[in-house]
Amino acid sequence: MTPPPLTKLRLRIVECAGESGGIRTESVFCPWRATSRAVHACRTCPHFELVDREGGVMVCAREPAIAPHEVEELVLTRRIHFGVDALTKRTAIGAVSWTNVLCASGETTVDTVEALLTCSNAHGVVLVDEDKRPVGFVSRAALSTERDGDVGACVETPFIVVDEACPVAEAIERWVHERQRVAVTVDRKRRVTGVVTDLDVLRWLGRLARGVHH
Ligand code: SF4
Repeated sequence: MTPPPLTKLRLRIVECAGESGGIRTESVFCPWRATSRAVHACRTCPHFELVDREGGVMVCAREPAIAPHEVEELVLTRRIHFGVDALTKRTAIGAVSWTNVLCASGETTVDTVEALLTCSNAHGVVLVDEDKRPVGFVSRAALSTERDGDVGACVETPFIVVDEACPVAEAIERWVHERQRVAVTVDRKRRVTGVVTDLDVLRWLGRLARGVHH
């Protein structure tokens, strides 16, 4: 019997600073449910295979119908041939947001946030309210100009909030229309699940274009 196809989903750390000890969750974007899932929740799913932390992926063995995220994998392994334009319409922005995420309340000190950022690849810190909904974004560059005080007092970078199930093509349209470069992705309850910059999307498109054209 042919074994089920495996899909590698990128692991992402979502970290909330400023609480007693902080909360750290490993998550992936599940393309079939079109939502982010904590890895510990995936472990109870019948499709869960394994976590490869060294490779930065979780392996899932759900039988596709071609799922949006899997399209990327299939293009890169040249098993299907879609144009990049079609891919941006089929792929959810949540599947592209694989950078780690650091969240904090505005009262968290700059020192605390900087210490956490040194061991993270997060783009900056998402300021959240008590329900973990985004209210601001402070980039690494803006943080590095501050020495004291609360992160809420730092100069904020403008950003847009996008549902993580939104197709990449629509997210790009909003970026261009609102002239922003950072998108904070949220789940159905508007809680932060990821951060994507225009450069992240360009890198993703570049990888796909290589898969499509070579
Ligand atoms: S293990 Fe289940 S919930 Fe997790 S990504 Fe795979 S199909 Fe989705």
